[in-house]
Amino acid sequence: MAHDRVTTPTITLRDGTAIPQIGYGTLAVQPDRENSDSNAVLTAGVVGEALKAGYRHLDSAQSYGTERGVGRAIAESGIAREELYVTSKLANPNHAPDDVRRSFDQTLDHLGLEYVDLFLIHWPLPTRYDGDFVSTWRAVADLVEDGRLRSAGVSNFLPEHLERIVEETGLVPVVNQFESHPYFQNAPSREACARLGVAVQTHSPLGHNREPLSDAVVAKIATDLEKTPAQVILRWHMQLGDISIPKSSRPERMAENIAVFDFELSEAEMAAIDALDRGPDGRVGPHPSTYEG
Ligand code: NDP
Repeated sequence: MAHDRVTTPTITLRDGTAIPQIGYGTLAVQPDRENSDSNAVLTAGVVGEALKAGYRHLDSAQSYGTERGVGRAIAESGIAREELYVTSKLANPNHAPDDVRRSFDQTLDHLGLEYVDLFLIHWPLPTRYDGDFVSTWRAVADLVEDGRLRSAGVSNFLPEHLERIVEETGLVPVVNQFESHPYFQNAPSREACARLGVAVQTHSPLGHNREPLSDAVVAKIATDLEKTPAQVILRWHMQLGDISIPKSSRPERMAENIAVFDFELSEAEMAAIDALDRGPDGRVGPHPSTYEG
């Protein structure tokens, strides 16, 4: 219900736009990644629940097959377009500049929107396209010029990938969306973002496989604060200044995951979670330097 929904703080990005600090992730809300009618209906139902829970930032991708369902949920919600923040990502087969433009048109069509707030290169793919992700980045950044894209960014870019696109184009992405959670905090990517003025957006913020949710240190803090482990982990992200996009298909967990703005972790609690980092061994998803999509 609109009157008691949680209001999420926003982070101002380097281009002056504002992004809600918590968004709703749509990976695997469908049984498969097909752009089918049945998936669109299913995803619209799940995303509709997220909108009811108060999410106003939705994270989609060409490769998830969720763009049509996200668009449908938005249309059915009656929520004004300017109250929503919608992200999609360039699929790995679409890195050639002409394919960037063609597939972005299709993204707008699938979403049924006149503009997208944020469009990201999903993976750098340094072992494909003759190692050229720079022309892909230029093509994505150029989309901002025609008014149908508000902000351009990247995802899963390692420090060397970020440095290269900035050096070769002078264009700095507004965000880098990468894996980060208590077991894989990803300090090198965080440092590169800080150095270059790129906002940190954390995907798989709960660990994707949910392992950090059963951690004893997290459980103890949750008990002390009368919060859930997911809330403690998401609060840790919020206090680091991350933009995070947890996914749950269950309405009660959607509500839980966004209700993290009425309590604080102490310095000691933050440090205890910081100490859970397993470094590179904690990574759950693919490695960006070898992933080929
Ligand atoms: P998350 O870290 O968000 O974890 C999702 C898992 O945690 C699901 O199994 C979910 O199950 C469970 N879960 C969610 N909330 C709770 C809760 N409160 N208590 C217990 N379990 C919970 O993983 P994701 O990998 O899905 O990442 C989130 C989003 O990040 C994705 O949806 C996608 O938008 C984005 N992403 C981007 C990537 C990229 O390459 N750019 C890669 C991976 C993700 P259930 O649904 O049953 O509640």
